[in-house]
Amino acid sequence: MEEQKVHFNIPPFHPKAFQYMEDAVARQKICGDGFYTGKCTEWMKAQAKAAGALLTTSCTHALEMAALLSGIGPGDEVIMPSYTFVSTADAFVLRGARAVFVDIRKDTMNLDEALIEDAITPRTKAIAVVHYAGISCEMDTICRIAKKHQLKIIEDAAQAVLCTYQGRSLGAIGDYGCYSFHETKNYSMGEGGAILLKNQKDILNAEIIREKGTNRSQFFRGEIDKYSWKEAGSSYLPSDLNAAYLWAQLEEAEAVNRRRISSWSLYYELLQELEAAGDIELPVVPKGCVHNGHMFYIKAKDLEERTALLQYLKEKGISAVFHYVPLHSSEAGQKYGRFHGQDRNTTRESNRLLRLPMYDGLKEEQIRYVASEVKNFYRQF
Ligand SMILES: *Cc1c(COP(=O)(O)O)cnc(C)c1O
Repeated sequence: MEEQKVHFNIPPFHPKAFQYMEDAVARQKICGDGFYTGKCTEWMKAQAKAAGALLTTSCTHALEMAALLSGIGPGDEVIMPSYTFVSTADAFVLRGARAVFVDIRKDTMNLDEALIEDAITPRTKAIAVVHYAGISCEMDTICRIAKKHQLKIIEDAAQAVLCTYQGRSLGAIGDYGCYSFHETKNYSMGEGGAILLKNQKDILNAEIIREKGTNRSQFFRGEIDKYSWKEAGSSYLPSDLNAAYLWAQLEEAEAVNRRRISSWSLYYELLQELEAAGDIELPVVPKGCVHNGHMFYIKAKDLEERTALLQYLKEKGISAVFHYVPLHSSEAGQKYGRFHGQDRNTTRESNRLLRLPMYDGLKEEQIRYVASEVKNFYRQF
């Protein structure tokens, strides 16, 4: 076994987390919607300028809430990319809907906005966009299409906390936006997420769905004198202990964001000569998009070259990984979805993509080491 020199990810942690978790215990309210949940919620609402924000047990659950709030049911269709995490599809498939996969753009790995309209049928109810690597989809065009055909927009913004499109926060552009605070994301509570609500009128319903279908949230605020079962719902609210762990990071989110972007930029700068030589391709950030350094990926020539590069880096003690296997090629994807139009980019581009180590705390010399080993790999030929 070779020595591991550079990890792929180290879960986010801020030392103040223990102090805040102790405080949460002292406050004797460690269930959902306690003091620290409130802190995180206010932070999200303020930074994203959303009408509402609710902390959830995961981004997957936030997506499930978005599916419920959108009224998605059996036979409905939801347009989405095939190049995404399973939860984007699961949330709607659980409601009996069909996933309609549309090809991605080669430059951003995001849903190709030019192909959406052709996939719309009388059954289409929503478009689920994924802002891959925290780089925005072409939201002006997508919002125009949604408005014209009266479709809901759900943003899977799992990777996109603190990212913007034309100055607007990702997650707060569509009807519903879903964040992830999983340990692989920029800010974490172990397992967790949030749903952002664009419209004031969704807030009460979202609170009810998240509190087992009851209006307990209103009861706790003293707005009603007893709570009761109002709708079909579930339990999607995390413990305040987890929120306390997260709050320690959110308090210093801007600093984390700056460090990640500077790591991303250093990779970009160091690997530019390989792109110029035609060996690899680097990520593209379209005009008007501001990302958060969530991920740094490169593209090799093809699957065979990527496999060789991954193995080479592994031998050098560097943990690099590939990413999503397109959903339409999976067992469930074939059962619950269909690919509309031609797969020009989804399979080919996903086969070429390789993610380099990226986390807050990654050192400059580690980035230089990784970049130099990627260069050494291409010098062999
Ligand atoms: C991480 C991720 C999810 C799932 O997040 P969880 O919080 O683990 O449920 C969903 N979609 C995308 C695009 C992700 O990156």
